[in-house]
Amino acid sequence: MDIYFRPHHFVCAFCFQGAGYSHEFIANFKNIMSELDSQSENKSMINVTMMEDSICAYCPRCLDCRELNSTSVIKLDLFYSELLKLKTGDEISWDEAKKRIIEKVDLVIFQNICSACQWYEICKVHFTKKQ
Ligand code: SF4
Ligand code: SF4
Repeated sequence: MDIYFRPHHFVCAFCFQGAGYSHEFIANFKNIMSELDSQSENKSMINVTMMEDSICAYCPRCLDCRELNSTSVIKLDLFYSELLKLKTGDEISWDEAKKRIIEKVDLVIFQNICSACQWYEICKVHFTKKQ
């Protein structure tokens, strides 16, 4: 399976605990995470894109997102692409992505960038543990 992530979805995947917008969305997300976690030492590769990706592919909000929320999504992508040094065309392992997130994202940064998201309280746990 070729996996494509837009920058902020690396963090969403890091925090994923089974919540999502629909059954199809969650099933797809779980498949992706199984693939990423299946190989020894998390060597599965992820392609970086600034567009709709493997997670967006099953999102029921895709059209709304494109038309209404594009500014907030673009803001998330731009911030995390800069912080995690991710650019279109890069291919990085899940292991490397997780290392960058653990190293670069703390609770203060996460709060500043992600607090408007509906999943914030769920995701926050991952960064609270680091404090
Ligand atoms: S709070 Fe939202 S945007 Fe931020 S990591 Fe969680 S699901 Fe993704
Ligand atoms: S809300 Fe937008 S960025 Fe998030 S998964 Fe759906 S289409 Fe992708």
